[in-house]
Amino acid sequence: MFQAALKLLNKLAEHGFEAYVVGGFVRDYVMGIESNDIDICTNAQPKDVRSIFKDACLPTEDYGSITVILKNIRFEITTFRREYSYMNHRKPERFEFINDLQEDLKRRDFLMNTLCIDCHGNVIDLLHGKEDIDHRIIRTVGDSYTKFSEDAFRILRAVRFATYLDFQLSPEVIDAIRKTKYLLKDLSYQRKREELDKIFTSVRVKEGIALLLELGLEEELELPKLKEIQSYDDLIGTWAQLEVQDLYPFTKNEKELIRKIQEVYTKDNLHPKVLYMYGFYVNSVAASRKGISKKEVTARYNALPIHSRSDIVLSGQEIASLLNKKPGGYLRDIYRDLEDKILSLELANEKEALVQYVVQQYRDI
Ligand code: ATP
Ligand code: MG
Repeated sequence: MFQAALKLLNKLAEHGFEAYVVGGFVRDYVMGIESNDIDICTNAQPKDVRSIFKDACLPTEDYGSITVILKNIRFEITTFRREYSYMNHRKPERFEFINDLQEDLKRRDFLMNTLCIDCHGNVIDLLHGKEDIDHRIIRTVGDSYTKFSEDAFRILRAVRFATYLDFQLSPEVIDAIRKTKYLLKDLSYQRKREELDKIFTSVRVKEGIALLLELGLEEELELPKLKEIQSYDDLIGTWAQLEVQDLYPFTKNEKELIRKIQEVYTKDNLHPKVLYMYGFYVNSVAASRKGISKKEVTARYNALPIHSRSDIVLSGQEIASLLNKKPGGYLRDIYRDLEDKILSLELANEKEALVQYVVQQYRDI
């Protein structure tokens, strides 16, 4: 990936442009962590970038950066810029392209995110971000209060990075977050969810949630149940415990899972009928919250005599002909009864036993 990035920088250099890898990739690189997306900053204008990389460019997004895909690697190429007056504490109202790396670095969020790699592979550290990485500390580029007031998403980014990298927030950052956290209320739930998802899927999720609570962000994020979370091993399971499916955006499928997890939490997750009816996933998620191991749920689930109706060895057609009837709605009731009897081990899922039971029980319907 590093080589691919240098190649891209050199291609821009061949056309007379200055370009650097910047941000998360460099931060992770100096820490020895692999990262997936590569951010590039350059003095080339978007139109120049588009003409150099033609077919590899994705359609432009509104923020003016261009995504180039080369050999399956995603490069986000952004022209050096200065930003002015922030609207809604989110996107800058206006920005201007500039020709100065140092100026571009000043608009960025945290010092650790200002390291660059040039086209020769050298790390360039104009704002001394490496020191912060070495000290595992998150400090803003310039005044923290201003940075968070300009863009309150930086608050969640700070928590996310502290969680994922196991870094400390500087005292100034903590203080500024406490003063600006009220701005989180106005941010889009979609973006808030994206940041929270990253915290909730981190291996250090527990510490991440503790930090959100320590900073008192649960109120602004409208997550009153945040301090009651009991299990962290599944993203949707975490959201299910937060009970905010009507506030934050979720897909239809996610909402359905959340509803089921919440419903099945009130039941015995090792009971055969509950396992059969709700399936393995929602039961294991709900069980984990009660301290029941996934292993135990797996064992119980695997031991079920049937896992779905299609596992019953007697077909609808066969039942109908046993009873000399045309297939119809009555089959549903018979199947329900068979499922019940098989799951409670009163009846074996074997043809002979099922035939005998059906004939005896239903011949007069
Ligand atoms: P990762 O990609 O691992 O999530 P990252 O630091 O690369 O982390 P990106 O969202 O890819 O984060 O942004 C790339 C760079 O752009 C950041 O490192 C930072 O320098 C700058 N940046 C991103 N978002 C903001 C923001 N809201 N305010 C200021 N600078 C930002
Ligand atoms: Mg990045």
